[in-house]
Amino acid sequence: MRAVRERPSPNFDQRRSPPDMLVLHYTGMKTAQAAVERLCDPEAKVSAHYIVDEDGEILRLVPEERRAWHAGRGVWQGEADCNAASIGIEIVNPGHEFGYRDFPDAQIAAVLELVADIRGRWTIPDARIIGHSDLAPERKQDPGERFPWKRLAGEGHGLWFEPAPERVAALGAPLGPGDEGLGVIVLRAGLHRLGYALEPGGEYDDLTRITVEAFQRHWRQAKVDGIADGETRATLMGVLQLATAESVTGVL
Ligand SMILES: [Zn+2]
Repeated sequence: MRAVRERPSPNFDQRRSPPDMLVLHYTGMKTAQAAVERLCDPEAKVSAHYIVDEDGEILRLVPEERRAWHAGRGVWQGEADCNAASIGIEIVNPGHEFGYRDFPDAQIAAVLELVADIRGRWTIPDARIIGHSDLAPERKQDPGERFPWKRLAGEGHGLWFEPAPERVAALGAPLGPGDEGLGVIVLRAGLHRLGYALEPGGEYDDLTRITVEAFQRHWRQAKVDGIADGETRATLMGVLQLATAESVTGVL
C-alpha cells in the first residue's frame, strides 16, 4: 500500500459501530484543490475519509474509526444512516457538471489499493460496495458511468455480472415510464432487494426511472436512459443472484 498523506478535516463525529459499507464518489468540482478545501471547511460540513487525486495521490481527511459526512440523505439495504455505516472515498473528477472525464489509470490503481487495504481492516460485503448515486439516486450521479466498476470487481471488490445474449433476448420488450404489471413488479422488487430505497409494488413511476438510471450507471454503463430493457433486467437478476449467494455464504 502506497503512502497516505494526512490532511485532517474537522468535519466528522463518532461512530457507534464498525463500518460495513464502502461508498465511492467523484468530487464534482473544477479542481482537486477546491475539493480538498471544501471537504476541510468547517462551514461546509462535508468530508470523506479519503480523497484520491488523478495522479494517484491519496489524502486521509478523517480516520476510518470516525464518522465522516459524505453520504447525506439516502438509503442502501435498509440502512438510512449511510455515513454511520460506511467509509467514503472521494475520487477527483470534475463530474457531470464541470466536464466528466475518464478516471486515469494511476488514479484507479490507487483506488484499488485503497479499497483492498480498507477491506483488510473491516468486513465489507461486495454487495455493500456502492456509488453515491446508488444510495441517493434522486440527488446524485457520482461516481458515474465512467467509473470502472467492472475492473474493481475483477480485482475482487464489488459485484459484476454480464448476461448471456440468449437471456437478454428471452426477456422481451423494454419496460419504461407508465408501464405496469408483473414485469414492473418484478423489476421494482429486484431493485429493492439489491438495496435501492425504491419500494416494491406500483407502476413504472418517476422514482423507478431514476432508480433504473442509478442501476445502469453502476452495472450497465453503456446506456444510461432509465429504460429497463432486457439487458438491464437480465443484469439485475444476475447481480441479485451474486448478492444472494454472498449473503448466504456470509451466514454459513
Ligand atoms: Zn458523492
